[in-house]
Amino acid sequence: MVPPAWAALGHATFASPAHDVLLHGKESYRPEEVDYFVGFRPPHGFLKKLTRLKLVISFGAGVEGFLTDPEFPKDIPLVRFTDPSLAYEMAQYVTMHALIIHRQQRAFDEFQKAPLWRQLMMPRATDQTHIGILGLGEIGGKIAERLALYGFQVSGWSKARKSFPGVKSFAGQNELKAFLNQCHIVAAVLPQTPETIDLVNRDFLAQLPQGAWFINVARGTLVVDDDLIAALDSGHLGGAVLDVFRTEPLPTEHPFWRHSKITVTPHVAGITDPRMALAYIGNCVRTFEAGEPLADIVDVTRGY
Ligand code: NDP
Repeated sequence: MVPPAWAALGHATFASPAHDVLLHGKESYRPEEVDYFVGFRPPHGFLKKLTRLKLVISFGAGVEGFLTDPEFPKDIPLVRFTDPSLAYEMAQYVTMHALIIHRQQRAFDEFQKAPLWRQLMMPRATDQTHIGILGLGEIGGKIAERLALYGFQVSGWSKARKSFPGVKSFAGQNELKAFLNQCHIVAAVLPQTPETIDLVNRDFLAQLPQGAWFINVARGTLVVDDDLIAALDSGHLGGAVLDVFRTEPLPTEHPFWRHSKITVTPHVAGITDPRMALAYIGNCVRTFEAGEPLADIVDVTRGY
């Protein structure tokens, strides 16, 4: 379950008389002797076979790969990797694309091909470009704070109301429509849960103002693909930037690849750094063995 590139680092970090590191699929091991599991999307039913398991550590921030397993052992604590540098990378991605949209860089790229010297008026960030962040957690909160520093009007939507400087907070289903009505750019940073699957559908997109853009760095399951394409084709949406997809890698025949209003990237908005993750995992194991409280425990009932 650990990517091969991490193996050497993993052995170097953990090799001690007390801890062995085993690579699933590469080394033989006895399932009943495994204490800690580290991974991302194990096959359903796999963890149930590890009868001595004490702790599950996700090296990705999203944990739907564990919680969609009907046999996931819910009595065992699940911790998910969080790291400021991952949140900063995600903030870079969303900020970069928001700026490309806001500054109309795609138009200048086209003018250069002509070539054509043509100036365009910029919308004012302070009152003409409103950016909304769906999900104001570890990552969404950092994205919102940074966008506010550029002078954009920024709002966030979450379950509970939040307080970030310069960010207007909307909470719950009842406030989703009001949140969407004002967003010229909306970026999704929500976890995949039963409540968020298919959230971005025809009704959702219809609430956005004409010409709005949609950025998805959350999970592909949030989006009803055909509804997104219909909103782009009708001219209601200005464009979409998609980093995550229902099926990854995105199949070559998928219409997203060739749609003129869609930018596709291969799930790279934030990539877990093996060195940071291994330090984190070591710290989790030490904390757990010392009987101290673990940070970043997933609430398996709410699903994130
Ligand atoms: P957090 O758990 O810290 O934050 C999740 C946020 O979503 C919270 O603000 C939460 O609200 C909100 N939320 C969850 N469910 C709902 C709902 N039904 N309605 C309204 N708001 C909701 O997660 P992270 O910020 O660490 O990560 C978010 C997601 O980003 C991950 O789950 C993963 O899917 C994705 N991700 C993508 C990466 C990429 O490379 N593309 C890399 C890393 C993560 P509240 O705070 O009120 O509970």
